[in-house]
Order: sequence, then structure tokens, then C-alpha cells
Amino acid sequence: MKTVRLGQTDLKVSEIGFGGIPIIPLPEKEAVSVVKSCFDLGITFFDTANMYISSEAKIGAALEAVREKVIIATKTAQRGMQAAAEHIDLSLKQLKTDWIDIYQLHNVSNADALQQVLAPKGAYEAVAKARDAGKIRFIGFSSHSIQTARQTLQTGLFQTLQFPFNFIENDPAEELFPVAREHDVGIIGMKPLGGGLLERTDLCFRFLQQYPHVVPIPGIRTVGETEEIIWLYHDRRSLSEADRKDMEGIRSVLGEKFCHRCEYCMPCEQGVQIPSVLIFQAAAKRLSREGVTAWLGKAMDSVTECVECGECEEKCPYNLPITDLLKENLALFRQYA
Ligand code: SF4
Ligand code: SF4
Repeated sequence: MKTVRLGQTDLKVSEIGFGGIPIIPLPEKEAVSVVKSCFDLGITFFDTANMYISSEAKIGAALEAVREKVIIATKTAQRGMQAAAEHIDLSLKQLKTDWIDIYQLHNVSNADALQQVLAPKGAYEAVAKARDAGKIRFIGFSSHSIQTARQTLQTGLFQTLQFPFNFIENDPAEELFPVAREHDVGIIGMKPLGGGLLERTDLCFRFLQQYPHVVPIPGIRTVGETEEIIWLYHDRRSLSEADRKDMEGIRSVLGEKFCHRCEYCMPCEQGVQIPSVLIFQAAAKRLSREGVTAWLGKAMDSVTECVECGECEEKCPYNLPITDLLKENLALFRQYA
């Protein structure tokens, strides 16, 4: 498999990475076997997160014997120094490693989050100290907001950016990635399959192959999925006219309902956790019932607090009919849970 230089980290990683969410519901033995097989097939870049429950421990168990040959990235959503420092130590333990190649601050998607992580005694201080102590090699961040990600890049404090990127969420190609490249920041493409909503794997990866500086990290649950993606990289070809028409068709159907998780609609004064509710259907496709309920149960309950004031819809740059979508997702969740 070809390798990609991950910006100023100078790390060379496989052009396809591994996203650690879908192994959460798998039994330990099966998950370890999937991760090992991905390594055997040439994947050398593995991304996970403290909040992905068992994912770090499974990846750690699978890669312990080949630690020197792989690049591991993980993340914390904590905003304070002490809590972030605890997460770093927990990640090291769960990943069974003495160092983490890239430690990312998770979901820095609004001005408050950015201000909190960079404040004195904020999470950035913890990762910087861990880097100085040799526990972490590079510092990255993930985000769902182009505006906040641009501001975060301008600080010059981060070596990698992780952002959703697929043929529906394609704005970053022009509005964000050029800024990252200007700063020589490595780009990791989150949700290459739209968080599980895009079923045409071929279209997703043919689209991404146009951006060789972006390393996609598809969530992988079976060896067959990895083989399918790798085959698409062996059998590279440009998008045909028919592919473009198919993509346009999917875009026009999904675009009206597709939440980009940018959080511009937040906060809701009633406490409705809008972006979490709107990812329910994608989560239900990828995780077990117990996993989805544990993760999104509280968010789904928050929908009952909505007073339909419409403020969120005014703020959504994608003009999503949020109140209808909240009701639709709650009804589906109730049937499902
Ligand atoms: S419409 Fe509902 S979800 Fe949106 S801001 Fe108002 S109360 Fe919150
Ligand atoms: S509902 Fe709209 S504003 Fe809110 S997170 Fe989704 S896309 Fe962004």
C-alpha cells in the first residue's frame, strides 16, 4: 500500500487508515483478529479515542507485538488539564504502549471549546506536558466546524487535523484543507463513508482518491470491508460521468437531512442535544443496540424538552428542518430501543 506523509509530523502512514468505532461491539477475540488482519493487509495507521469504550484496549492487544511498525492516534474530549492528563495515562495503559504517536483534542467545534482547551490549566497544557515527557509524539485535534478548525489551525499549536470528509461533506476541500496545507498540518479524513450513511463504498473512495494528501480512516468491522477498500486502491480509476451522476443523486436525497455535526445550532436553551440526536440512524447502523442506547439514550430523551422555538433552524447553515428531524429520530429510536 502507498504511504502518505502526515504533514509536519513527517510520519509516513498507509494511505488508508483504520477508524476504531465499529470494533466496539465485537467480542474481544474477533476485534483483535480484525485489527491484526488490517495490519497484515498493509494498514499502518490506527485511530481510536478514549470515549470509544473498548476500542483502545482491543487495538492495544492487537498491535502490541508490532508496535514499532504502526502509528497510533487517539483522543480525549476532556477540556481541563487534570482530566486530560488522566485520559492520556489511561490511553497508554489500554493501548499497551509507552508512547502515543498522535494525541488529539476531540471535537474542538466551537469557540468555547477552543478557548477551554487552550486556557491556562486547559487540556492543551496536559498534552504539551505529556509530549515533553515522551508519552506523546505529536498533538492533533478533531473538529466538525470549518470556522473553528480554521481558527485552531491558525494557532500553530497542532500538527494534525481530523475532519469529516466525504462526497456529501466536501466543503473542507476548498474551505479548510488549503489552510491546513499552508501550515503543513497532516490531514486525517474522518467519516469517509458518512458515518455509515453512505453505502456506495466505491463512490466514497473514488471520490477520496482525488485528494491523496487526506488520509481517510474508515470504520472497519470485518476483514472483508478492508479487502474491498484496498481493492479500490489497487484498481484506481477516476470518477466516471455515471459515478458523478450517482453521487449527485445520493447528495440530493441525503443532503436535505444530513447533519454535518458542525454545532452551529448549539446551544439549545432547552438542553436538546441536537447533533447527537441527528446521528442516531448512522449510529444504529454501526453499533449494537446496547451501545447506541448507552451512547445516545440521554440525547434522545432531551428531544422531549424541545419547545419548537425555531432558533436552531435559523442558525443551521444547511437549512435542515431540525425540529422535524428531531421528532423523526426520536420516533425511530423508540421503535428501536
Ligand atoms: S427548536 Fe427545539 S431544539 Fe431547536 S433551539 Fe428551539 S427548543 Fe432547542
Ligand atoms: S443541525 Fe445543522 S447546525 Fe446543527 S450540527 Fe447539524 S448541520 Fe450543524
